[in-house]
Amino acid sequence: MKRTPMIAGNWKMNLTIAAGVELVKTIHYTHRHPGEVDVVVAPPFTALRAIADTLNDSYISVAAQNIHWETSGAFTGEISAVFAKDAGAEYVIIGHSERRQYFGETNETVNKKVKAAFLHGLTPIVCVGETDAEREAGRVHEVINTQVEQGLAGLTKGQFENLIVAYEPVWAIGTGKTATGQQAEEVHASIRELLVKLTGQEAAEKIRILYGGSVGAKNAKELLSFPNIDGALVGGASLKPQDFVEIIKSAGAL
Ligand code: PEP
Repeated sequence: MKRTPMIAGNWKMNLTIAAGVELVKTIHYTHRHPGEVDVVVAPPFTALRAIADTLNDSYISVAAQNIHWETSGAFTGEISAVFAKDAGAEYVIIGHSERRQYFGETNETVNKKVKAAFLHGLTPIVCVGETDAEREAGRVHEVINTQVEQGLAGLTKGQFENLIVAYEPVWAIGTGKTATGQQAEEVHASIRELLVKLTGQEAAEKIRILYGGSVGAKNAKELLSFPNIDGALVGGASLKPQDFVEIIKSAGAL
């Protein structure tokens, strides 16, 4: 089945409003005809509204990098799906390994956030991935399967169909070490097999599985050539407009 590729840029805790607006204007103007590619950028919360307004008439959509699972209330410092959407987000990254590592994100909180995202009309991009130690110990499939099963527990078929999964091996994030296309495809294919068990063939075939981990202008094309690699979640290279545009172009040429 043909799935529209997606290239999503995770800016993490980078770029002020002015710098973010400049970056998206550059991407927008240098690459106006992406063809069949969905492009998303995930700025810090403070820049969401300004970036969404700048991209109002463009082909690029906006994502939040996290949400809280509650809708509103006494949760000082948190941002819910309602507020992210109000600020212009259409997507939200959930369960990024940095949130799991530094902020106590668990498969259980991932699950609550995925449900909150759907409830309020945001499309979740759910991140899973093993650490170096887990790969060395031969536990890749066990770890990923648990993250997928628990993170996506209780979703409806309609929600599964609209979901995006990002496989991001932790050892490849921000390290310059990339999984080979073959290594990534092997995990992507096994995630899809598990999704078939969880929601059936038809819905599972619709789910885009992105690869993330040191994707850049040089390796994107090879990674994206594999049948179960439906796009990329890009960190560092998404801050460099030329590189990000090259990655978008690689996906467009599929
Ligand atoms: C990420 O943060 O999701 C990521 C993949 O980062 P990088 O591309 O810098 O490895």
